[in-house]
Amino acid sequence: MVAGRKIIIIGGGPAGLMAAGQAAEAGAEILLLEKMKQPGRKLGITGKGRCNITNIAEKTDFIAHFGKTGKFLHQAFGRFFNRELMAFLESLGLKLATERGGRVFPASGKATDVRAVLLRWLDESGVRINNSSPVDELLITDKRITGIVSKGRTFKVDAVIVATGGASYPSTGSTGDGYYLARCAGHTVIPIRPALVPLETAGNEAGRMAELNLRNIRVRMLVNGKKQQEAFGELVFAKFGLTGPVILTLSGAAVDAGSKGQKIVFSLDLKPALDEQKLDARLLRDFAARGNEPLSSVLRGLLPREMVPVCLDLIGLSPDRIAHGVTVKERRRLRTWLKDFRLEMVKARPLKEAIITAGGVNTREINPRTMESSLIKGLYFAGEVLDLQADTGGYNLQAAFSTGWLAGRAAAAGK
Ligand SMILES: Cc1cc2nc3c(=O)[nH]c(=O)nc-3n(C[C@H](O)[C@H](O)[C@H](O)COP(=O)(O)OP(=O)(O)OC[C@H]3O[C@@H](n4cnc5c(N)ncnc54)[C@H](O)[C@@H]3O)c2cc1C
Repeated sequence: MVAGRKIIIIGGGPAGLMAAGQAAEAGAEILLLEKMKQPGRKLGITGKGRCNITNIAEKTDFIAHFGKTGKFLHQAFGRFFNRELMAFLESLGLKLATERGGRVFPASGKATDVRAVLLRWLDESGVRINNSSPVDELLITDKRITGIVSKGRTFKVDAVIVATGGASYPSTGSTGDGYYLARCAGHTVIPIRPALVPLETAGNEAGRMAELNLRNIRVRMLVNGKKQQEAFGELVFAKFGLTGPVILTLSGAAVDAGSKGQKIVFSLDLKPALDEQKLDARLLRDFAARGNEPLSSVLRGLLPREMVPVCLDLIGLSPDRIAHGVTVKERRRLRTWLKDFRLEMVKARPLKEAIITAGGVNTREINPRTMESSLIKGLYFAGEVLDLQADTGGYNLQAAFSTGWLAGRAAAAGK
């Protein structure tokens, strides 16, 4: 270790906070520059305010959730992975709870508690934090970082860690500045686009059911008529279209296919536990038991109230139709709709509404063992500013913490 190396961390999100503390503990002199009035704004709203910190999945499965971008993370996860992160946070006094799907949360259910323990740790480790201090420029001489400029003031440094996050939810401070800084340093930036993002759909059907939340739904994503992916879980209708975990999971692939001009259709299986035969038997049973009632009331046994008029409109049956008068053909139409309700995607909601920014600093130009730029000595990157993106489930925060951990340690050691 080179004692007393002067390091500036740009950005106080999970990646920057972890990098700052690790580098300080390794003996470096740390200044963290945060452009907002306080660090960790986004961290404070993660997981609907509960912060899904990580996931207990084993490494191969975990990395698979990053798709093509996951390969880069092997070394970082080899050094500091989910169990290490959990033990570390617990050592700071944060109790954790593991929920369905291996998702780990603070036991208090408060994302702000995660931020609070990290900030206390930084304080105890001697990290200085300057809030309201956006970094505008990197100073580079002979392919080596020498300093940065913030609000017209120059700071001389031995190393800089860029942890500015992505470009989604800009009100949290993540406005994409790191991409500009990286480009100025000669890095290529893979085009940024929204991922884990709600999607707009054609027609008014989704809007008619806005805010309706469906659990245990299977959604198949059809690209130019062919099934490409499917996901199972919770879906939420919105004024503009679809959202909820299942849609967010499929959204990255949908955005990419949509950008190639391909037609994206979501096929909703509203009764995934029943195959066609069982569903038909169920319909026959309901229609026999309540033969004299109008379809609109019989269908209430099968669907949430808001869905019934939409269903009847789409299959072309009157709500007043008496159940025992439904023909075999009409029943088949209903059955097919329940298993294959289709909505066509028009476009994604804007980047500012995305949970994650896909794209970012090209990881081919970053040393995966240290997070150091392979172009500029002493310049490191960590977190979402890199071309890394994963599903929901705690994977993205783990990537921010792991790459931050590695960058902090490596920068302090002058590696
Ligand atoms: C609503 C929402 C919920 C989420 N929930 C989860 C979840 O439960 N689990 C999960 O794994 N992931 C979740 N994510 C994703 C996760 O929050 C991000 O992947 C993670 O915060 C990225 O960390 P980061 O440190 O790289 O960047 P960020 O958290 O974006 O932090 C970047 C920091 O850099 C600062 N900054 C930017 N530019 C400058 C500059 N020029 N100078 C100085 N400072 C600068 C910003 O103000 C900010 O504080 C969620 C995201 C959103 C939007």
